[in-house]
Amino acid sequence: MAKKRVPAIDGWFAMDTAEPRLLGTKCSSCGTYFFPKESSFCRNPGCSSTDLEEVPLSPRGVLWSFTNNCYPPPKPYVTPDPFVPYIVAAVELEREKMIVLGQVAGDVKIGDLAAGMEMELCLDTLFEDDAAEHIIWKWRPAKGAQ
Ligand SMILES: [Zn+2]
Repeated sequence: MAKKRVPAIDGWFAMDTAEPRLLGTKCSSCGTYFFPKESSFCRNPGCSSTDLEEVPLSPRGVLWSFTNNCYPPPKPYVTPDPFVPYIVAAVELEREKMIVLGQVAGDVKIGDLAAGMEMELCLDTLFEDDAAEHIIWKWRPAKGAQ
């Protein structure tokens, strides 16, 4: 029996494997995007709006920086046991021009990455327990991009 797939963090992304999207908010007054979602008021110092709508963010962006993490991060981060080193990428979203951090999909090697390349969002397992697969967003080199 296949395990249940649940989001590792509720409400931060759409659980849609075919078209994964991060969920942010956009200020309807000044157009500033926020991720994670800002729900009380716009953080743009020049704007006093409290009208924020939930929007799906660009699933693509440009690789701004990356590094590999060979040590488990401190709690509250959840990592598989035994710890498996992973790559962290900072990607500048195509439309929003904001940087979103995420792990890189496990099959991608650090030598496959170069700053400036196009990346796309995917959903992958963060960790598994007896009850479920806990799913998180990850970045991978975009298909059809060089
Ligand atoms: Zn605003």
